[in-house]
Amino acid sequence: MDIRLADFEGIKIQKYVIELDLLASPILNAKEKEFLAEFYDFLERDLDKDLRALEELNYYVEEPTQEKKREIVIRIMKKLAENGYYSTILNADEYEVGKITRNALIAYALCGGRWSDYSERYIAGNWSIEMGRLAGGTLYCNPVNYKATEPQKERLLIPVTKDGAVAASAMTEFNAGSDIFRMELNLQVTDDVVIAKGKKVFITNGMIADYIILYGRINNGPLGAVIVDTQNQQLKNFRSARIRTYGMNDAFVSRLIFDKVELPRENLLQGNGLDIAFHQLTEERLVIGAEALGDAMKKLLYSHTYALHRRQFEKRLHQYQVIRFPISANIRQLNLLITALINYTRELDKRPDLGGSKLMAAQAMGLKIQTTELAFESAVHCFRTMGGRGFIRQYSNPIGLLDPYCMIHGGGSNYVLEDSESRRFFKYKPTRREVEDIIPRIDL
Ligand SMILES: Cc1cc2nc3c(=O)[nH]c(=O)nc-3n(C[C@H](O)[C@H](O)[C@H](O)COP(=O)(O)OP(=O)(O)OC[C@H]3O[C@@H](n4cnc5c(N)ncnc54)[C@H](O)[C@@H]3O)c2cc1C
Repeated sequence: MDIRLADFEGIKIQKYVIELDLLASPILNAKEKEFLAEFYDFLERDLDKDLRALEELNYYVEEPTQEKKREIVIRIMKKLAENGYYSTILNADEYEVGKITRNALIAYALCGGRWSDYSERYIAGNWSIEMGRLAGGTLYCNPVNYKATEPQKERLLIPVTKDGAVAASAMTEFNAGSDIFRMELNLQVTDDVVIAKGKKVFITNGMIADYIILYGRINNGPLGAVIVDTQNQQLKNFRSARIRTYGMNDAFVSRLIFDKVELPRENLLQGNGLDIAFHQLTEERLVIGAEALGDAMKKLLYSHTYALHRRQFEKRLHQYQVIRFPISANIRQLNLLITALINYTRELDKRPDLGGSKLMAAQAMGLKIQTTELAFESAVHCFRTMGGRGFIRQYSNPIGLLDPYCMIHGGGSNYVLEDSESRRFFKYKPTRREVEDIIPRIDL
């Protein structure tokens, strides 16, 4: 059953807003604009039909849609890979834009979409598809590329980077969310196999992934990582199921059960699990920042359009300051954060050693917090502006209204990050004099 009501007209974005067009931004250089423009063309030419088909499936209740969605998502990842947009680690010399800047530009454009002069309509983005791209193309590929041996790369990395096999990264467990040191999944290592036993939760792409980087405790001791080839999800003693989420409808967020799954010992990565997971943390935070900015742009465009057209009390909504001001404040904020993002990604591309800098990681974390809060705020404001319409699927689906709520937690919960950031700022070692001053007073 299609739940759309004919009386409700869709929101048609009709007006170009230069401040919301990244291609018009003075901060991007010519090469970056060229790369971005090519991606927008690809989005319209090769992905738009699939993205619209995915959206369409969200209006049919009482009908199974999971299989259809799975097919579409797998097809999209392949198309992204064929065009070099899934993972950006391969063939770096072929590009004039650095790999982290490319990763961020793709993320921004895939989440935000863009007004097309050619077809005179808005080509929508989809944050859950970008989440799937991030999980496979970055959270899987980057750590594997960092630690895998050449034969491991040939078997376990190339099928993902080149052919677009769906991949996932499995860290979170029921008792180990923010506090990943509490991970319990055991990786029992023998001479020829690794036996995985435990459960994972909230894993993007989990139930459609061909390859998963699985973190756990080596023989119940230190953290390590192993690659799981799921054999098209048919692997013995492995089970996966979708978690139904509000928002991120197409990201296939899943739970996984490893009930003594036997994996070849050759799939074990050398090195400490935390180092492997966190090696690419700065890039991940910047790419999530780019996603959030693309998403904020989309929400602002929808709020702007609705405010221009909707008439109440004989006036258009934009004639009320209470509607107008938050939109312009958020547009201003968006452009400031884009400037920061692009500067960080360019610098990291130029100086890869910055990937190991704690200060750079902290600043990327700050950007992740501010950008996802902006996406969140823009969604809240969009919801307010839309009135009752914001509450129904017919309007909230095309906008992806609930997507940014997830990203306050996804990729590291903002509250945990803020807490550790503020603790660091106030970290204080008392001088000897102060200690000597305090001790006698305590004795009293
Ligand atoms: C859409 C989505 C996709 C995801 N994809 C993946 C994936 O692909 N792979 C994967 O491994 N994981 C994934 N996750 C899991 C994600 O990383 C966790 O949700 C996140 O780490 C938070 O863990 P938790 O949900 O268990 O919350 P908890 O850790 O239980 O936290 C609950 C609340 O307490 C707060 N809190 C906890 N500790 C502190 C602290 N020290 N200071 C201040 N506040 C604190 C948190 O911020 C949060 O608000 C995904 C999550 C989402 C929402």
